[in-house]
Amino acid sequence: MNLIDFVNKFPDEESCKLKFKEIREQEGIKCRKCGHTEHYWKKDKEQYECKKCKARMSLKSGTVMRKSKLPFRYWFIAIHLLTSTKKSFSSKEVQRQLGHKRYQPIWHMMHKLREAMGNRDDNYELSGEMELDDGFFTTRVPDDKKEEPLKRGRGSQRKTKVLVMTESEIVDNPKPGKKKKRVGFIKMKVINDLKAGTIDNEVKQNVSKDASIKSDDSTSYVGISDIVEEHTAKVIRNEEIQKELPWVHIAISNAKRLLLNSFHSIGPEYLQKYLNEFCYNFNRRYMGDALFDRLLVACVTMKNEFRYL
Ligand SMILES: [Zn+2]
Repeated sequence: MNLIDFVNKFPDEESCKLKFKEIREQEGIKCRKCGHTEHYWKKDKEQYECKKCKARMSLKSGTVMRKSKLPFRYWFIAIHLLTSTKKSFSSKEVQRQLGHKRYQPIWHMMHKLREAMGNRDDNYELSGEMELDDGFFTTRVPDDKKEEPLKRGRGSQRKTKVLVMTESEIVDNPKPGKKKKRVGFIKMKVINDLKAGTIDNEVKQNVSKDASIKSDDSTSYVGISDIVEEHTAKVIRNEEIQKELPWVHIAISNAKRLLLNSFHSIGPEYLQKYLNEFCYNFNRRYMGDALFDRLLVACVTMKNEFRYL
């Protein structure tokens, strides 16, 4: 959806509200009190009323927009910005575009949307042939570490560790000039350390048991073979990474470039949210115009069925 289409489709608050209501009803409304799924729409109050227990519910309640005083149109514009371009937008930039006085509500909205993105992707597991590696992302030095002398390299207080997992299937007869592996879904998870137990937990939560994972032979990865069907760990020299683990490294460098181009400095506690956004859009790169509606659905239903995209 380009900007003209967006403006034509959602010219005002009412059109956004109607669309939001349509998506809510399409996904099904559940009473918070009794779990009943049939409701009356009270037009004058703009509330749903449970047909069984008469409990009332606003249009926003039970969605990521709950408690937000911002108009639906703000949310729609933000969803449009997050899904229609290959770029990302800082909350400051969105605040400027909306001409809104206060920064905090806009910041909150943007992070809620990124949370919905992560939540949606948490509903499915990676499977099949996979690559796994860790990456180090530049973040702001946390306040409690500002007094310490700054370390260099991987152990620096400016670096945040991220576990990167990609479905990466070997292509049987790749066309000349094309990659030998085809990427599927990806995940990126901020981790506190590289201990084997930490890695094991992430693999358990994000990867299907039938997966076949390839990684380097780091001691962080010693537990993986007990969790999934197959784990190939091999010594990989720096110059071989592109060949052995191509997709984790393409994903890492694309994510780093996106963050660098869009944000001034990222606090380590927020890095996961930005990675959610990157992975969400990457995993839906062929969806085109459907992306807008998909993110609206993710906002309406924070948890949903497995592998429902
Ligand atoms: Zn009820």
